[in-house]
Amino acid sequence: MRVFLNPGHALGGDPDPGCVNSALTLRECDLALTYGSLCGKYLEAAGLEVKLLQSPRLPLRRGRGQ
Ligand SMILES: [Zn+2]
Repeated sequence: MRVFLNPGHALGGDPDPGCVNSALTLRECDLALTYGSLCGKYLEAAGLEVKLLQSPRLPLRRGRGQ
């Protein structure tokens, strides 16, 4: 089984970092990537094929679902 993960917002926070907590220097885009990567490693360890791309713009691909 193949899994595609898009953790949300954009790599590096450009153009949209999501929520930002300046006092704690936390950005939603960074947390999403961290947790998305951990989730991907967990799924790979369970035997799934994982692709991860953090992008606010993904091309639509139709007719490939299984
Ligand atoms: Zn968000």
